[in-house]
Amino acid sequence: MHYTHYDTQQGVAVIRLDNPPVNGLSHAVRQGVVAAIRQAETDSAVTAIILVGSQNLFSGGADMREFGSPAVSAAPNLLSVTHIVETATKPVIAAISGACMGGGLELALGCHFRVVAAGAQLALPEVKIGLLPGAGGTQRLPRILGVEAALNMIVSGETVPADMLKSTSLFDAFIEGDLLAGAIAFAHQVVVEKRPLKRMRDLKVSHPKPDAFFMFVRNSVGAVSKNYPAPLKCVEAVQACLTQSFEEGMQTEARLFAELYMGSESQALRHLFLSERQAAKVEGVSSDAKPRKVASVGIIGAGTMGSGIAINFLLAGIPVTMLETQQTALDRGTQHIADYLVERVSKRKMKPEKAQALSALLKPTLSYDDLAQVDLVIEAVFENMDVKKAVFEQLDSVCKPGAILASNTSTLDLNQIASFTRRPQDVVGTHFFSPANVMKLLEVVRGAKTADDVLLTVMQLAKKIKKTAVISGVCDGFIGNRMIAGYGSEACKMLEEGATVQQIDKALEKWGMAMGPFRMADLAGNDIGWSIRKGITQQNPGHVWPSSALLSDKLCELGRFGQKTGAGWYSYAKGKREAMPDPAVDDLVEAHRLEHGITARKISSTEIVQRCIFALVNEGSKILEEGIAQRASDIDIVYTFGYGFPAYRGGPMLYADRVGLLEVQRAMEGFARNDTASGAAWASAPLLARLAAEGQTFN
Ligand code: NAD
Repeated sequence: MHYTHYDTQQGVAVIRLDNPPVNGLSHAVRQGVVAAIRQAETDSAVTAIILVGSQNLFSGGADMREFGSPAVSAAPNLLSVTHIVETATKPVIAAISGACMGGGLELALGCHFRVVAAGAQLALPEVKIGLLPGAGGTQRLPRILGVEAALNMIVSGETVPADMLKSTSLFDAFIEGDLLAGAIAFAHQVVVEKRPLKRMRDLKVSHPKPDAFFMFVRNSVGAVSKNYPAPLKCVEAVQACLTQSFEEGMQTEARLFAELYMGSESQALRHLFLSERQAAKVEGVSSDAKPRKVASVGIIGAGTMGSGIAINFLLAGIPVTMLETQQTALDRGTQHIADYLVERVSKRKMKPEKAQALSALLKPTLSYDDLAQVDLVIEAVFENMDVKKAVFEQLDSVCKPGAILASNTSTLDLNQIASFTRRPQDVVGTHFFSPANVMKLLEVVRGAKTADDVLLTVMQLAKKIKKTAVISGVCDGFIGNRMIAGYGSEACKMLEEGATVQQIDKALEKWGMAMGPFRMADLAGNDIGWSIRKGITQQNPGHVWPSSALLSDKLCELGRFGQKTGAGWYSYAKGKREAMPDPAVDDLVEAHRLEHGITARKISSTEIVQRCIFALVNEGSKILEEGIAQRASDIDIVYTFGYGFPAYRGGPMLYADRVGLLEVQRAMEGFARNDTASGAAWASAPLLARLAAEGQTFN
């Protein structure tokens, strides 16, 4: 297998990168490029050298399959390849099409000239995994693009269309038609005109007011990147190209890169980057299984979730038939979607014609007959088994054979739902998070009988609607909500024991959670947990609730359901989302303590964080052992994408690995000793205990 190809055409050496799917700069590719440059240099018949990609793109950058292995930095590394290219004595031209990202762009910056095809896309996205471009990107890009434009690209990591860089000196020619033919013609021109080789290292770079400019940049970047060191280090590296020679700047870049690479934030972000890709893989499916075709979608229920889910498919250009039983509910859902599209247009994020085209893809209906031909139906009706039963029986009778029947249930037994149909193999859970058109996470629930091809179809579709999907087995609450139950209950217990609502929220928010448990409960609605608890008591009247759960019940008895009723654990001004501390809640808690004979004690932030987070870890460990989650990293994805877990900590399971599982276990044993009422909740999950004893980790 060759990952680079070499040939000569009309006196020009053509080096083609060929490492599908994105021409990642693997060790073999790097070796291939170096060998080809040497061959071209020694062939007297060769006058110029072209570096070109294949698969309609130049290069996506580092080969992520090498991440974590010695191959990633094996010689020649990208830094030396770029140096060899730049110091070649014959003109080297990068012929760029499609994606030219990360190390791919750094390689192109090492070339003496760049020609580009229409539609090419450029980026230095390293900052997104907590790094900076480490193969000269921070020193070369400012020299050719100017400090400000380069800084924008490097600090944001965003993709820039080549067309937007037309006015800069980055490209020497825009090629229409065949890229390679155009590049060869350009190479001949360079040779004939004896153009001097443009080595970026030799270019002068300046800024009219460097000190003031960089002070401003540092302040603004620092303010928005608090727990993420990479953006500020990117700034520092770029600044070095103004204050240092090229060689010194390269050393600064290398030093800053190494600092980031060893840092815990980048390790966490790299873990999440790889985990997200891993999560897309479904374990245990037959190799013959192929995804089914989904060209149209039906949605049952046009409420909060149904209308949000519909938006996802419309944005992906997939026609949606949305069904309700009442015209008013249907109109409300349709209006919600229309309002969303109008807002996109008014914010200039969508062209009016596009919004019109997308709204034409929506067909609201009151009749099940309109669902006879859809390829996939997602049910998002009330969370009630009798209602779900009626819906799935209807779907079973009207939908065509092979149609996928999905439920958005968040708490009900998917296997029971599947049993309402004569085709349980076609039934799957698609658990979207609210707001469904915003939240990236999708839990795909695999029922006992869900067919392999149904799972593959839904995972593929998730990508199409830009969701990050994770497979979950069937259990109460699936991965995310099952874990959050213990987290929330620890928060309530600490409230009872002596902490305040604000203290608990602040401690966890300071630690990195996007929202503390009480603010989150107010957002989601306290009545949801209340109605679940009432249901459990109804089914099992002997069930004993911890006294802290009764505290939540008391809150709900006062009608304090959260933001939607203007009061919950906090109070909210009409139409506002700002959580305001409420003395009435303190009084409620105080009265509850008196009633249960609890003397309030001081609780530290460390205890708050450990009890909430380790409760997540312990439940996550059970979920992993039971096979509900396919892998520990899937749990990390669920928490960072769906529950506001800080990405720079890499998810609860990676965090526990970092703390050390033995340490986690010891802390849990301490909590169990102190918690006379429900110490059993802290019994170590068997998997956690075993890994801790063996000195191992989850990931
Ligand atoms: P909702 O009350 O906002 O909407 C439900 C809609 O279903 C209503 O418009 C109602 O008119 C309609 N409906 C009821 N019975 C119907 C029937 N037989 N046929 C057609 N339509 C019917 O509820 P929601 O928050 O959108 O929740 C819907 C589902 O999604 C539930 O299963 C819920 O557990 C789940 N879910 C909700 C959230 C959330 O945060 N709201 C998150 C994840 C999952």
